[in-house]
Amino acid sequence: MTKTIGYAAKHSVSALRPMFIDRREPGASDVVIDVMFCGVCHSDVHQVKNEWKNTVYPCMPGHEIVGRVTAVGASVKKFGAGDLVGVGCMVDSCRECRSCKEGLEQYCERGFLATYNGNARNPSEENLTFGGYSESIVVREDFVLRIPSGMSLASAAPLMCAGLTTFSPMRYWKVGPGTSLAVVGLGGLGHMAVKLARALGADVTVISTSPDKKEAARILGAKKLIVSTEKKEMEEAESSFDFILSTIPQPHDVNIYMPLLKRDGILTIVGCIAPLTKPLDISGMIMDRRVLATSLIGGVAETQEVLDFAAKNGISADVKVIPIDEVNDAFKTVDEGEVPYRFVIDMASIKGKTEDDSLMAKVGL
Ligand code: NAP
Ligand code: ZN
Ligand code: ZN
Repeated sequence: MTKTIGYAAKHSVSALRPMFIDRREPGASDVVIDVMFCGVCHSDVHQVKNEWKNTVYPCMPGHEIVGRVTAVGASVKKFGAGDLVGVGCMVDSCRECRSCKEGLEQYCERGFLATYNGNARNPSEENLTFGGYSESIVVREDFVLRIPSGMSLASAAPLMCAGLTTFSPMRYWKVGPGTSLAVVGLGGLGHMAVKLARALGADVTVISTSPDKKEAARILGAKKLIVSTEKKEMEEAESSFDFILSTIPQPHDVNIYMPLLKRDGILTIVGCIAPLTKPLDISGMIMDRRVLATSLIGGVAETQEVLDFAAKNGISADVKVIPIDEVNDAFKTVDEGEVPYRFVIDMASIKGKTEDDSLMAKVGL
């Protein structure tokens, strides 16, 4: 075991604080990675706050990891010390089920092992995974990705989740040249979706609650931004999209977006992993054979695909790099839905930190 420092929450209302964890000694197929950058996904906030009701504490988030390999197990073939690599939302799966065999490990019939809060059905600390808000991580070779050369490492980190999660449904539903596409919610996922959809050849619009994100949307390559609370703007956009990708992180009424689809149009939800606030209005869908779909991250091969696609097309995330000390402020900002980009933690800033239980005790956590 190797003692490793990371930032974790001890329960649902606690801030993230330094905490030592044990990383396993590398087995034959393991890769040891010195974490260099880790993106802050809104899922990290949901998970730490136990909004999905499955969090096991302590919770050490982080599944947009980029780092350097420091050691590999005896049977590792693809990586060696010094390589720049990434780790996304999964660190293992059964490898035997139909989904795993089809490269859809995210839909593993036995449940994939999440990079953090993994094994939540068996909540003993030994079985609990800890994520990338830490100085190092040990991951099985098959779940480690190669970072294409020349990519900015901080900007590559969000491809591991935000990029993959938006790319996967666009590929599945064959978004391409001529697709009229709308992205709902211009945050971490949304801004990646705009860039990737443009690179796939789609005509992109942003639908947002924030009129002040108009310029950001334009710079990203969207032809316009529709303000979802403006009735007239929404009415004018009726029947105009082949594909809508919703990244809204909170329960909401999806029915207001359905009329914006053309006949046979598809609305894919990736953002809200919770019940919607209003029942689905089938009558508003059926007359135009509209489709409501969902999608969960992407498979391992697809993660490499999005990394390579992004590198080839000169795409990466717009990031605000922060030291680990600012992670709790970043969580607050993400929770408030204010960022049209991604916070990424420079994990070099964690070096030398030690546990601070006295502080936790002081605030009663
Ligand atoms: P984010 O950076 O906070 O962006 C979400 C954006 O949605 C906000 O910037 C805001 O954009 C809009 N928004 C926020 N609250 C809203 C509300 N109540 N109603 C309407 N719009 C709202 O979050 P993210 O990191 O992109 O993640 C988005 C969601 O995807 C999270 O719930 C996350 O857990 C989920 N996720 C799912 C998967 C998956 O596999 N399906 C993977 C990763 C993340 P505007 O200001 O433009 O409205
Ligand atoms: Zn994520
Ligand atoms: Zn499986």
